[in-house]
Amino acid sequence: MNYEKAIQDYKQLQGHKALQLRAVLFDMDGVLFDSMPYHAEAWSQVMSEAGFNFSREDVYMNEGRTGADTINTASIAQFGHPSTPEQIDALCKAKCDLFATYPPTPRMAGAIELVKKVKACGLTPMIVTGSGTPTLLDRIESNFPGLFDPAHIVTSFNVKRGKPFPDPYLLALEKGGFEAHQAIVVENAPLGVTAGVAAGLFTVAANTGPLKESVLYEAGASIVFPSMQTLCDEWDNLFTALN
Ligand code: CA
Repeated sequence: MNYEKAIQDYKQLQGHKALQLRAVLFDMDGVLFDSMPYHAEAWSQVMSEAGFNFSREDVYMNEGRTGADTINTASIAQFGHPSTPEQIDALCKAKCDLFATYPPTPRMAGAIELVKKVKACGLTPMIVTGSGTPTLLDRIESNFPGLFDPAHIVTSFNVKRGKPFPDPYLLALEKGGFEAHQAIVVENAPLGVTAGVAAGLFTVAANTGPLKESVLYEAGASIVFPSMQTLCDEWDNLFTALN
């Protein structure tokens, strides 16, 4: 694959003369963990029981939003008004409770190998997720031992406005001490891509869900890979092109 054009287009769009790569900002669900099928199942079931028309595909289209944003977006679309804080709390709790009954989500194929390659290149891997489960840090450490510094993880607890706003990615840059031209984003969801691009970052997507590749390009992805394994296999070529 030829990455030069995508990189040139990005530099022109964002007004950067050069990329000086120092960090890779990974989304979590659907990128590091193969967890989206469970999230889609849990959200669609809990929302349907509460009277929402909310399909599994809706879950993928809203992926990246915080729980509260997801519920409010669905409520405004269907009923013309946001949900009450009480309903939001109840639905988020019901979704988390249901999700907790599922088997532990496995790592995405190729994810740990890619993070190791990123580190071996002297780059800092970070995580930027809209998720905010209490066991999240333990789960990251047990699946990716020694690979992510807890100070380099941004969760829904850290930002008021989640994806598709750029805030989580801007906070990651601040936490890591990086500028936008020094980091790239790896996302799987349209709203996550939008957030990365809005933060001024070169954003690649791994299309690990059921959406069309074109949805990710339309959201602003510079390159879309068909899987995390492909991105992992292509890493050396991409890294060379980025430097
Ligand atoms: Ca995701």
